[in-house]
Amino acid sequence: ATPSAVMAALAWLARNGVVTKGSIALERLAKVDCIAFDKTGTLTRGEPALGGIVTWGGLDETELLRIAAAAEKRSEHVLARLIVREAEGRMCVVPDIEEFEAHPGCGVTGAIRGSSLGPDYTQESHRVVVGNRRLLESMGIVLPEDFEQRLDEVENLGPTQLLVTIDGQLVGAIGVRDTLRPEARKVLAELRAEGIESFALLTGDRAEPAQMVADALEGIDEIGSELLPTDKARWIEAQTKAGKKVAMIGDGINDAPALASATVGLALGGVGSDVAAEAGDLVLMGDPLTPLPGLLRLSRQLVRVIS
Ligand code: ADP
Ligand code: MG
Repeated sequence: ATPSAVMAALAWLARNGVVTKGSIALERLAKVDCIAFDKTGTLTRGEPALGGIVTWGGLDETELLRIAAAAEKRSEHVLARLIVREAEGRMCVVPDIEEFEAHPGCGVTGAIRGSSLGPDYTQESHRVVVGNRRLLESMGIVLPEDFEQRLDEVENLGPTQLLVTIDGQLVGAIGVRDTLRPEARKVLAELRAEGIESFALLTGDRAEPAQMVADALEGIDEIGSELLPTDKARWIEAQTKAGKKVAMIGDGINDAPALASATVGLALGGVGSDVAAEAGDLVLMGDPLTPLPGLLRLSRQLVRVIS
């Protein structure tokens, strides 16, 4: 390559907050014909707001948030940070969590001392789960019969719901809504104009919020919902087998296997996504979507100069 072309490329990358782990990543990006996006935190801003709250078994809303926050305290997930912030905003003393475990793409589990839960909790320690339906199902937890109906009754519940159980009993659902990144639609159109043939949305969230995002974007060809981290990777591998060159863009621990499986992985940098950043070939430090069309053009120019 001519040194000046390379220097100009490096300057562009620096200006746009793109960190590359080597020129091979750009060479791979130049060949991509399909882009798969993670939803939460990537296409959406990852600054979710609290929606409606439903409780079961007599807890009040603040108490529910306090217990959920205990389980979420040690999670880096954007949903976890929201719950903790809301509980602290209500002046809750958030209990300690023991045996904490994160289940990427699903939720968190742990144990809370009975003494910090309240007089109704007589055991030394109680199991708490905060997560999606899939996580509860995998633990054999059965939802109450009136579950769906009660959720339907809540106005502005929010399309994503975090379910909270204590000792296998549902005690509440916390609704959350996230907003699309305002530039997402335009960026997608530009990428299509650059010749990208297909776009996919891969999420651990349910079909409904995924569909909402896809509808707002106009141009998502395929949606994968309720995907575990390995499901995202498998989706990419299937596309690769079919001859596609896939770029995966994601922000979370749950995207790491997919980022590694892709022709090229683009990870969002910044708080809480160290694992994703490690799995990516390119790391987007600033606004993650805006640089994509320019980055694609740059990669193709560079390949032309080099070869
Ligand atoms: P995406 O794939 O869109 O980025 P995530 O995989 O991060 O979404 O999350 C998928 C779903 O898993 C969430 O919608 C939520 O229901 C559940 N989940 C993930 N992490 C947590 C957490 N820390 N607490 C509660 N629920 C979680
Ligand atoms: Mg995400």
